[in-house]
Formats: sequence, structure tokens, C-alpha cells
Amino acid sequence: MKGKKIMITGASSGIGWSAAETLAAEGGHLILCGRRESRLKELQAQLETPSHLLVFDVGDRKTVFEKINSLPKAFSSIDILINNAGNAHGLNPVHKADLNDWDAMIDSNVKGLMYVTKAVLPSMVSKKNGHIINLGSIAGKEVYPNGSVYCSSKFAVDAFTQGLRLDLNPLGIKVSAIHPGLVDTEFSKVRFKGDKYKASQVYKELTPLQAKDVANVILYIAQAPDHVNIADVLLLPKAQANTYVTNRKS
Ligand code: NAP
Repeated sequence: MKGKKIMITGASSGIGWSAAETLAAEGGHLILCGRRESRLKELQAQLETPSHLLVFDVGDRKTVFEKINSLPKAFSSIDILINNAGNAHGLNPVHKADLNDWDAMIDSNVKGLMYVTKAVLPSMVSKKNGHIINLGSIAGKEVYPNGSVYCSSKFAVDAFTQGLRLDLNPLGIKVSAIHPGLVDTEFSKVRFKGDKYKASQVYKELTPLQAKDVANVILYIAQAPDHVNIADVLLLPKAQANTYVTNRKS
């Protein structure tokens, strides 16, 4: 990990933030991405490893390419891309859902992840080396009520990951995905538009994963020997059996 150039999208919170701390502790040189610059600066200030900030919305196609193409030489040849930026917006049946929520999820979780990948790939392709780790979700393996578009976006991440692995196989570039269940981050606060009560109900009476649990798996995947690709990981808290069966009193 020492000296590897690692780009993390969505580093300003939750899983991305914890992944940055974990990979920095192993000596990675980080490109920290997100829209909230102040949060990225706060993170950067506590890391004892070289890092560079890129502030952009992953769904803004033109800016994604401009920002990634503007990386200084010390950071421009990315070894590991962690495509983590994304969120759920709303939890409603299709007929009651807000189209703006749909756009936000498709723009960040699907198009954003694809744009960032496309922008980072040229240097990996030219050196015939690299590793892309995508954050999917159990929602990308199994649909749950009222989550049709978030689930669609994560099914798309799963399909894109599989397609990417096929396309990049001849080039020696590894592609992996982690699909977590319930993780206690700002995710539910964002989904319920700041409603703390609704967000807290998601994790009520069970022990969810912490961001650090996911970050540890990211590190494990990133550190696997070169000939090993941990391609697909479904990571659940003990109390969760699938998207809707949970043991709430555990
Ligand atoms: P979080 O704490 O809300 O973090 C989401 C991160 O994504 C933030 O850093 C946010 O940064 C960034 N982001 C969101 N939309 C963006 C956009 N349009 N452009 C750039 N950055 C954007 O949630 P989290 O749980 O860590 O989520 C990380 C990933 O894990 C997501 O892909 C999520 O779908 C997935 N996941 C989460 C859970 C869970 O239960 N928490 C379960 C399965 C999968 P800014 O707001 O600063 O831009």
C-alpha cells in the first residue's frame, strides 16, 4: 500500500472517510473527492500521508473529466480507484416518488461512478495495471419495497462491475465490488432528508456495520496479492439476513 496512489470518491463522510483513514495508515497517497470541501480539508488535516483534494459532483460529467485530468503529476497515475460516492434519496413507492430523488440517485450512483471510472482508466490502461473497487449494496443484489430506484442504481453498479471486469481482463486491471448491508453512516440521514428520528429507526435495536468494518474489507481487498482478485463481497451485520429480514433484538 505504501506510496500507492488511491482515489476515493465520497471521502467526506462515512465509508469513504474511514477508508481514507485506514489506507493512509498503511502509507497510501490519497486523492480525496467529494462536494463538501470543508469536510475534505478536515480529513486531510488529520492524515499523516500525502494527499490531494478534488472537489466535484460525480454526476457532473464535464467537471469529472476536468478535475481528474487536472491532477498534479505526483497523483495522476492512479493505482487504486475506490468508487464509493453515492446515496439513497427518499423511500417511497414508485407512484409516490419524487423525480428529483430519482435523478439524484441515477446521477451519482450510476452515471457518476461510470464517469469517474472512464476518466481514471486511461492511465491504468497505459500501464496495464490498476484496481477498481466499487461500492455496491445488498440493494444491488435484492430489491426491497419502496427502494426500486435506489435498488436499480445498485443493480446497475453490479452489472457495470461485471462488465468492467470482462473488458479489463486482457489488460491486467482488477475489478472488485463490496455490497454492504446496513452501515451506520450519514446514509439514512441523507435518505430521509435530515430527519434524525426516521434515520435512527433504520438501526434501531440492532448492531449495524460501522464504516470502519467496510474500510477494513476495502483494505483487505486492496492488499490481496497481485494474482488474487476478491471480486465480489456481500458484507452484512450479524443481525441482518437480507434486505428486509433483521433480528432487531440481537
Ligand atoms: P454517507 O456517509 O452519506 O457518504 C456518502 C458520500 O458520498 C459522501 O462523502 C458524499 O460527499 C458522497 N456523495 C454523494 N453524492 C455525491 C455526488 N453527487 N458527488 C460527489 N460525491 C457524492 O454514506 P455511506 O454509507 O458512507 O455511503 C457510501 C457508499 O456506500 C454509497 O455508495 C452507498 O450507496 C453505499 N452503501 C451504504 C450503505 C449504508 O447502509 N450506509 C449500505 C450499502 C451501500 P459530499 O456530500 O461531500 O459530496
